[in-house]
Amino acid sequence: MSEFDYDLFVIGGGSGGVRAARVAAGEAGAKVALAEEDRYGGTCVIRGCVPKKLMVFASGYAGMAEEATHYGWDLKNDGFDWTTFSGHLQNELNRLEGVYRKLLAGSGVTTYDARARLKDPHSVELSTGETFTAKHILVATGGRPVRPDMPNAHLGIVSDDIFNLETLPKSILIIGGGYIACEFACILSGLGVEVTQYYRGAQILRGFDEEARGLIAESMRELGVDLHTGTNIVEMECHREGEDENGLDAPVEAMQYAMPAKDGPQDGPLKVKSTNGHVKVFDKVLFATGRRPNTDDMGLEEVGVTLARGGAIEVDEYSQTKVPSIYAIGDVTDRVNLTPVAIREGMAFVETVFLGKPTPVDHELIPSAVFTQPELGTVGMTEEEARDKEPVDIYCTSFRPMQSAFADKPGRVLMKLIVSQESGKVLGCHIVAPQAGEMIQMAGIAIKMGATKEDFDRTVAVHPTMAEEIVTMRKPVRTA
Ligand code: NDP
Repeated sequence: MSEFDYDLFVIGGGSGGVRAARVAAGEAGAKVALAEEDRYGGTCVIRGCVPKKLMVFASGYAGMAEEATHYGWDLKNDGFDWTTFSGHLQNELNRLEGVYRKLLAGSGVTTYDARARLKDPHSVELSTGETFTAKHILVATGGRPVRPDMPNAHLGIVSDDIFNLETLPKSILIIGGGYIACEFACILSGLGVEVTQYYRGAQILRGFDEEARGLIAESMRELGVDLHTGTNIVEMECHREGEDENGLDAPVEAMQYAMPAKDGPQDGPLKVKSTNGHVKVFDKVLFATGRRPNTDDMGLEEVGVTLARGGAIEVDEYSQTKVPSIYAIGDVTDRVNLTPVAIREGMAFVETVFLGKPTPVDHELIPSAVFTQPELGTVGMTEEEARDKEPVDIYCTSFRPMQSAFADKPGRVLMKLIVSQESGKVLGCHIVAPQAGEMIQMAGIAIKMGATKEDFDRTVAVHPTMAEEIVTMRKPVRTA
């Protein structure tokens, strides 16, 4: 008999926690419990990747219907009905949450629908009042969106709220230029919302390849997003009905503000003053200004777990914290905040702790996609990163793809390879195109295997496709 109630207690039922719990119980035969205070599936399934991708699909039909007329179709488009979509969306999320619960039960994991807090290095206290001991504790509590520190920030919504809107706003202001801001700008614009986006920096999608960023910004503007860079929100207030209908763009001093609502996002329109000196009224303001690890009031520091600035749990390459019995994976550690990475970290934790195979987490060459319109798929170094490290050749092409060119649409795609002059290895691949997320998964395999430009050249093109350009770029456009 073990001296502990469980071999493993997992806190958090998102992608990483559920995978680790299932594999530890199912494959390693460990006695496992998991506590989740909210819905099973976590950010990815309930309020992130999955509902977002379904909204990406929903928004894509607007352009498709228009394009179809050029191909001879007489399609009737009576517009988008949010109520219908959102009903189907909620049903799907309920179904998926059920699947997650079933997977845990099927693997023999005991679940507690409760908030858990660390009591000591081997015990957790639940909001139900129960306390359990465990040989190992895994913290997989994820993160949450944060609003900027400004008065009335509570009047705006965050990405979690989008999926529960009762109606679609007519207009929205999105603050931020990261993944979430750009994805929702495209989605909501596609669904017929008038989208304005303010980003404080010079170009959206900081950290991605500059040429790719430029093309995404151009495409978003073509899509109808009113994107302002070098611009931020300064103040916001509730907008009084009937007030200054012609006050849009009026000088700030001329505006009269209504009393702000006391708590929660605002149902009525909001009046926003921005750094460019203008005041505008929007039905909603969405803050997509970053996320923060969920480490508040969990007893972490009290038991000796150290937190970095910003609240992330500090871990080593095996996801072990400063307290040997406590591990942490996923967004709560703020390493690479992507679902498949959290899952990898969960698997590596189980291998290390329960399967006797110490496995450090490999965070190199992670392919990822930003689901803008068109999508951005990326793996490896950007041109800017690579040229700081070694001399590189840049292969790049940008063109109008066949499908949309036929329909006389302006959008361009971009395919780009960053190649080491010394080794010939492809150090980075960046694709801006419809379905770039699908394409980069394949390119990611080759690049992870260490493919050279010559390997790409030896591969026969699949014709006629957009992706064939990735193996037909003969000459570098420049060296850097
Ligand atoms: P990001 O960190 O990517 O972007 C935050 C944005 O908000 C940045 O543009 C930042 O500007 C801006 N910002 C931050 N603070 C302020 C402020 N006070 N005022 C104005 N602007 C501000 O966060 P996201 O929330 O978009 O996404 C979080 C993470 O979630 C991503 O990094 C990614 O790991 C993951 N994710 C992945 C997706 C995918 O794989 N497709 C989709 C969605 C999320 P600046 O650049 O100047 O710092």
